[in-house]
Amino acid sequence: MTILKGIYEVGKEVLKKPSTLEYPEHKENLADNYRGIHKLDMKTCISCGACARICPNQTIDMVDTETDKGTKKMPQVNLDRCLFCALCEEVCPTQCLILTKDYEYEAYDRRDYVRRPEDLK
Ligand code: SF4
Ligand code: SF4
Repeated sequence: MTILKGIYEVGKEVLKKPSTLEYPEHKENLADNYRGIHKLDMKTCISCGACARICPNQTIDMVDTETDKGTKKMPQVNLDRCLFCALCEEVCPTQCLILTKDYEYEAYDRRDYVRRPEDLK
């Protein structure tokens, strides 16, 4: 009886849908309001620095960036420090800085977490 119960229990588990996914081939559907890596539209950034000032974790530095209209200060984001709170997105007056659903930013070197404005695509 105990053996039959054991076989039954194992069979039940084998037939169950797996609770894990074959990442990265398959990925979870993310919530609509998921907050991932930043995206910056350099054309509409007005270099006001509001995103850097509001950031609670000093994640954003305004750095010199070459544009069609000369050098401008634009946000550089250190993903290693980011809390993904989205305050920078909320405060941006031109909505040029948004948090995307992209969450893949693995690196071997912590310096690779620092994304220059040109890299925030
Ligand atoms: S999401 Fe929050 S912690 Fe990350 S850069 Fe924006 S304000 Fe800073
Ligand atoms: S708040 Fe928006 S417009 Fe202002 S510097 Fe940051 S990204 Fe640019």
